[in-house]
Amino acid sequence: MKLIEQYLVDKPQPLIGAKTIQLIVMREILDYTVLRTEEDRQLNTVYTPLSVKEDKPTRRVAFLATKQKAAESRQLEQILRTAAEEAKLSVTECYLKDKLCMKCPRCGLYGATSTESGQSDRANIKHRIEYSTAFSLLPYENIATVTTFNAINDKNITTGQALGSRYAVAPATLFPSIVTLKSVTWIELVQAVKTLLACKSYGAESRIGGDVRNTIIGVTAGWEEVITSLELTLELYDRRDKITPAEIAAFIKRDYVPKAGNPGKVIVLKPEQTDELIKECVNTALDKGFLEKAYKDIGEYRAVQVG
Ligand SMILES: [Zn+2]
Repeated sequence: MKLIEQYLVDKPQPLIGAKTIQLIVMREILDYTVLRTEEDRQLNTVYTPLSVKEDKPTRRVAFLATKQKAAESRQLEQILRTAAEEAKLSVTECYLKDKLCMKCPRCGLYGATSTESGQSDRANIKHRIEYSTAFSLLPYENIATVTTFNAINDKNITTGQALGSRYAVAPATLFPSIVTLKSVTWIELVQAVKTLLACKSYGAESRIGGDVRNTIIGVTAGWEEVITSLELTLELYDRRDKITPAEIAAFIKRDYVPKAGNPGKVIVLKPEQTDELIKECVNTALDKGFLEKAYKDIGEYRAVQVG
């Protein structure tokens, strides 16, 4: 897409520039989803102002950046594996966490730390996709659920007295969210968009529940990040009865672009332009040619980096 081209790079490079694309995403919870990190079973929550117009402290559920990133990084790794199999392309296996291959497009975009000892910092790949914590559109009280269950007593295999509680976010909860891409290629933008749309399982205990649908409802591009995910939630709360992509593009243009360090470099896509860009991304096939280019780019990145 012409409009976005000037914010893309030709090749991924270890030293990045300012080119930044922000994907504005609505994450809609479609089944009970456990957004917690600690074993205390409580949901991750945080106090924020209620909205841009009302600063009343309000407890919201936090959908942590790490949770989004973990699920989506895994999703991309799975997409790449299947696409490579189908294209009969032999590529290195990338085992998340334990053994990152540092050669695949996932490692190139999400970053990877070398596990080999004695390697300098230069051997690491710096991520060029950035996540931020997303905050529930509605307050905690409106969206949190708790179910109690009988904990099985191991000793006598009966349902004992101990009742467990499972805290989860209710279906139909919305999390406005932003995913930021820095100095990425067209090929990497395609992968990021496909990954976001394909990824549908999040949270702890995602073997039960945890279904989420991501919809990309806006795109900004510039030499910097234009809006943060908290700002987005507070803005949308004031418009919660009627959230439209046109309205989102309008308030970002009116209220956030002027605050940018380089406002002349910022573009906010119109809703039909966003749709066109997303369609172009999803209609790009992950065929042999695409994959070969994607892997070759990362190979060359490493060659430049490690010298
Ligand atoms: Zn890898």
